[in-house]
Amino acid sequence: MAILSIRIIGDPVLRTVAEPVTEFGPELAKLVADMMDTMEDVDGAGLAAPQVGVSQRVFTYQVNGERGHIINPVLENSDDDQPDGVEGCLSVPGLGFPVRRRRWTRVTGVDQDGQPVTVEGEGMLARAFQHETDHLDGILYVDRLEGEDRKKALRAIRNAGYEAVTERTTSQRARTVESSFGAFAAKPGTGA
Ligand code: ZN
Repeated sequence: MAILSIRIIGDPVLRTVAEPVTEFGPELAKLVADMMDTMEDVDGAGLAAPQVGVSQRVFTYQVNGERGHIINPVLENSDDDQPDGVEGCLSVPGLGFPVRRRRWTRVTGVDQDGQPVTVEGEGMLARAFQHETDHLDGILYVDRLEGEDRKKALRAIRNAGYEAVTERTTSQRARTVESSFGAFAAKPGTGA
């Protein structure tokens, strides 16, 4: 079990479409356990494997007491949207913007043993599933912003100089991410 360092925007792994998992064994189980530990350490609503530098289709989540992991997730979304909600991202620390997401999501995949898993939810849980699956496709929530919010986000990202600190992927860095995100978060569990 270990706390993994979290990759920050500017790191190419966050822009890479992750590969489906094909090997189920101790290495995968360790990745899932470490991701759960890391997500809990930073009190995130979710964590996707590319955020810890692993380009595989795995994410973990914890929303309103529901927690777990999904491997090779496939989403089915409602056609209608939920009210825009502020999202943050552990890989874009210190920022938060309202994002449009589908109201309801069913995620189908497998667990670390390769057994089928289906979870469905609305609101924050659906939001987390959509946010994390985006990560597996190389998409960050800031890509989904429009208009003024998009401009503001891009400016803030540029000014923060995240790219300059990308190489410092140490546990110290993870602590910094945690504190800067914590300072922003109006309530726990908005970062993912
Ligand atoms: Zn994220």
